[in-house]
Amino acid sequence: MSGESVKVAVRVRPFNQREMDRKATSIIKMQGSMTMIHNPETPKEEPKKFSFDYSYWSHDGFVTNSDGVMEPTGGSPYASQRMVFDDLGQGVLNNAFEGYNCSLFAYGQTGSGKSYSMVGYGPNRGIVPITCDELFKTMQTNNDGSVRYEVTFSMLEIYNEQVRDLLSKDNPKGGLQVRQNPKLGMFYVENLKKVPVGSYTEIEKRMEQGTSSRTVASTNMNATSSRAHTVVTITFDQIIKNQMGSETKKSSVMNLVDLAGSERADSTGATGDRLKEGANINKSLSALGNVISALADLSMGKKKVMVPYRDSVLTKLLQNALGGNSKTIMIAALSPADINFDETLGTLRYADRAKKIKNQAVINENPMD
Ligand code: ADP
Ligand code: MG
Repeated sequence: MSGESVKVAVRVRPFNQREMDRKATSIIKMQGSMTMIHNPETPKEEPKKFSFDYSYWSHDGFVTNSDGVMEPTGGSPYASQRMVFDDLGQGVLNNAFEGYNCSLFAYGQTGSGKSYSMVGYGPNRGIVPITCDELFKTMQTNNDGSVRYEVTFSMLEIYNEQVRDLLSKDNPKGGLQVRQNPKLGMFYVENLKKVPVGSYTEIEKRMEQGTSSRTVASTNMNATSSRAHTVVTITFDQIIKNQMGSETKKSSVMNLVDLAGSERADSTGATGDRLKEGANINKSLSALGNVISALADLSMGKKKVMVPYRDSVLTKLLQNALGGNSKTIMIAALSPADINFDETLGTLRYADRAKKIKNQAVINENPMD
């Protein structure tokens, strides 16, 4: 199968308080495009090696400046939020302006740095806000009067296999319905709010609104972390008037996905309701894993592979992002600590499979009717 591969980035964060309290040691090394992980139980063994499109060392070598922004100290290889944006977010932006669909999703165990990379905290804004900010800035500088822009924003959460609209105050019991477009075959969320936005400030407000209505439950792993998948969708249309007076429309759909923690339910001490959540989260994430495996097999030349998109809400909604009409990037977030060896190795293996996926992105450009 031809096409362009999913781009995979890995990023390793600083130790957190819990790891420092437990005197954790670092088992991750990065060298060029290579990421190495040592098994702390077998220190004499060669490390396992993986190679990815982008590797970000954000473990040490940083200072926090007077604005609260984390930056590299002189000569340090520390990868800041801006540097990650410059590679990944800028690529998303360029593709959106060309009329490609783009998807960006973050995978990793709870507390590994998914939300930090995607959304960020305080002055350390992540890829999503910087990309939205730059989108409006670029629209302003580009516009010579011959282009009209239309941007919409929506935000949803998948929790226990149910879809909640994070921009809506009254979600129906049991969640919104996921339906399939009979003509195009694509899945979509029925009645999801899609708000027009005219500036970065408006997007920022909507993101805040959405973030504050997320379902937050605590587990032993990370008291404040969400156990749900969060999906932000931005549609970006450019209506271009040509010299003959007719109009064409270039459209891009950007899906920005902060996945729930990938850890197994049993490692978080979950019981009862929490366990049910864990089981469902694993259902969506294992469905994602199965889709990724099937697509990897297809791209390696295997025939008659069924890609099980229909097995979960997440894989239905990410159908285009995975093997379809989209340019896709996955960020695998890593803990540096020996105590998380199993989960981190799992994440690296997952990421290694994802890079084999081939997508078939096309420019979405059509005459206006
Ligand atoms: P997740 O979303 O995967 O559960 P978070 O993104 O919330 O994890 O990260 C957990 C903690 O680690 C947060 O306090 C965050 O500020 C910190 N952190 C994560 N990644 C980085 C990074 N690259 N640089 C600095 N701090 C980070
Ligand atoms: Mg998070």
